[in-house]
Amino acid sequence: MVTGYDHLLFLAGVVFFLYRSKDIATYVSIFAIGHALEDLAVAWLRGAGFDLYTRKGNRPDGGQFGFSVAGGRIRGHVDGIIAVGPEGLGLAVPALWECKTMNAKNWRACVKDGVTKSKPVYAAQIAVYQAYMESSVPGISAAPAVFTAINKDTAEMHHEQVPFDADLAQRMSDRGVRILQATDAGELLPRIAASADFFECRFCPWSDRCWRLER
Ligand code: SF4
Repeated sequence: MVTGYDHLLFLAGVVFFLYRSKDIATYVSIFAIGHALEDLAVAWLRGAGFDLYTRKGNRPDGGQFGFSVAGGRIRGHVDGIIAVGPEGLGLAVPALWECKTMNAKNWRACVKDGVTKSKPVYAAQIAVYQAYMESSVPGISAAPAVFTAINKDTAEMHHEQVPFDADLAQRMSDRGVRILQATDAGELLPRIAASADFFECRFCPWSDRCWRLER
């Protein structure tokens, strides 16, 4: 839901940190459209026979499924959990469900090469979520995750199963710990780009601070 408290707080944070009004408008629009399409995907999957839970008990006031470790410094919310798949599909459950919207070019790459190759960041997110959700949803890492990609330009949908990659989850978890250790030690890690104009830096809430600090 676009109007959940966590989203409102997140949007407030984004508006606070993004100083260019054009960036704010773009980011909020992308965020809202992404969530509207995700809500549609949820309805369509349920209509196709997936017993898909996006909130505890599937109640509007039910909390999102998620995890929190390292004193809350590593945490996340999953888009959904499939409890039962349509008859005849043979889907292993419980299965993590992750949904992303993307432009036509990225969507075609995802269809052609799969999410692991075309969008490694999403694959890392899926692996980490499967690993950390295992304690609260036993079996979720044994079942391949279901990844849904929605083409924002044509409304086409792509679904694929993503087997759990334990090595990837471990590497990403180790990286998270490394970042926390560096932060606690006051150590500045390398930036991901050579310029603040890099796409991800332009939408990063910490951009201003990050590019002011000397390395
Ligand atoms: S601005 Fe954000 S995304 Fe870019 S290098 Fe800094 S912390 Fe990373």
